[in-house]
Amino acid sequence: MRISKMFFKTYRENPQDAEIKSHKLMVRAGYIKKQSAGVYLFMPLGLRMLRKLCDIIREEMDKSGACEMQMTSLLPIEAYASRVEHFGKDMFRLFDRSGKELCLGPSHEEIFTNVVKDAVTSYKQLPLILYQIQNKYRDEVRPRFGLMRGKEFLMKDAYSYDVDKAGLDNSYNIMADTYKRIFNRLGLDFVIVNADNGTMGGDASQEFMVKSNIGEDEIIVCDCGYAANTEKAECDYHPVDNSGVELLNKTKRHTPKLKTVDDLAKSLGKVAKDMLKAIVYKIDGKRTIVALVPGDREVEETKLIRAVGGMNIEMASLQDIEDIGSVAGFVGPFGLHNCEIVADNSVKNMVNFIIGANEIDYHYENANLRDIHIDNFADIKKAQAGDKCVVCGGELRSIRGIEVGHIFKQNTRYTEELQCKYLDENGKSQYMQMGAYGIGVTRTMSAIVEQYSDEYGIVLPEEVAPYKVDIVIANMKDKDIVEAAETLYQSLLDKKVEVLLDDRADGIGAKLKDAELIGVPYIIVVGKYTSEGKAELVVRSTMKRELVDLADLAKRF
Ligand SMILES: [Zn+2]
Repeated sequence: MRISKMFFKTYRENPQDAEIKSHKLMVRAGYIKKQSAGVYLFMPLGLRMLRKLCDIIREEMDKSGACEMQMTSLLPIEAYASRVEHFGKDMFRLFDRSGKELCLGPSHEEIFTNVVKDAVTSYKQLPLILYQIQNKYRDEVRPRFGLMRGKEFLMKDAYSYDVDKAGLDNSYNIMADTYKRIFNRLGLDFVIVNADNGTMGGDASQEFMVKSNIGEDEIIVCDCGYAANTEKAECDYHPVDNSGVELLNKTKRHTPKLKTVDDLAKSLGKVAKDMLKAIVYKIDGKRTIVALVPGDREVEETKLIRAVGGMNIEMASLQDIEDIGSVAGFVGPFGLHNCEIVADNSVKNMVNFIIGANEIDYHYENANLRDIHIDNFADIKKAQAGDKCVVCGGELRSIRGIEVGHIFKQNTRYTEELQCKYLDENGKSQYMQMGAYGIGVTRTMSAIVEQYSDEYGIVLPEEVAPYKVDIVIANMKDKDIVEAAETLYQSLLDKKVEVLLDDRADGIGAKLKDAELIGVPYIIVVGKYTSEGKAELVVRSTMKRELVDLADLAKRF
């Protein structure tokens, strides 16, 4: 492609709303352009990179035996029956001219399942893995980071249908392997973490996280290979022998105007971990749960809801707290009613601790387990760096990651709801076992640029670069230089190398800046060495330059 003929525009300045480097660089390099908040269009270079990602994903999915289809984005709202409420305002809803309500698909579990239900009747037609690469729409409250979190984004979503759980395990493993191959081919440094399914049902779920400081998810990892997101990361519990410690009697203390756990502990000559912190939650709008953790730790709500059961968890209101016989800010686990009290396992090791007195501006110090009431102990605190690994006892670290893929077993969550059944070998009607597998394609594109860039611009691996080579003509007025560059360009085209020819009238400086910005792995400068039959070859990833015979250059690719 001749750049003079291309729709090509780069920018020296970062876009004002860009906070992360992939967003800045992709806009500056002319990959993407903002249409509106969270909505980006693809310019020629960006589209080429996006297509390469899609090609790799498609190749690996096809190789795995999955079958590509294409659903519609415009869908009747009824298609999402039970999830309209779940998606809430995230869903784009609209009406057609007859007044029928439609939406733009945020996810396609129901849509695929309905198609399968209509077409599949017998176990002989299973298993099936179906996929599509298609735009999804979610009205994000806070779209940000360019392609990282948008309202319109490209996704590869796949769904597997099997006769039984063993079949689902097999499909799930095939997808897990396929995802590993895809992200390896994309050159990404990633970890696979055990994730929580939330309220989606099903019993296994893993996320593919690209390591990055700007990642929105915190991941707990160990050198032994253990990795889990914080919603799932387990905390090790070992009983501590406190038999030598004298248990004191609890005494009530006036503790006014102390807003934080630290301030409170300090006023009593103690530290945060000597406080038994009580956080009150409402589960499914009905049950009130008092969660207890040491004062220096946080409650992990997802682990809590898994421990106590239920679908939705939210902070209790002031009224809810009054209703159990306490007062916000001073909750203590004694004398409460109409609530369940759940403590983290580590609370068992606490002695002579501080608790709320269920009275404004009062706490007890030197409380002990004998003074309080706990219904259940469970692992409900959030794991953090420095904790011990449950697998090997090593020290856990905390890193950040960008979620680019998610695979999960949904079992019969959708197939029961939509009555998606098949007849087994005995002619008995059974629900299909389903799995769902997603890759955020446009987000993955951002993640690649996050991992592959330097101070000059984007530095892409060959497999995803929009072009492999950029031939920069140093001086368009020098006939010999132009002729040598044209000859080289033609010979690379003949060899099917994806090559750009920078034949614009601009100066060499501007052309080189562009070449370094746009993510090509090789830059060839045809200029002052032409008379010696040579050109400069720059390997973009190392910025190493060498003089190469023009006659030999084409052979290098
Ligand atoms: Zn470990």
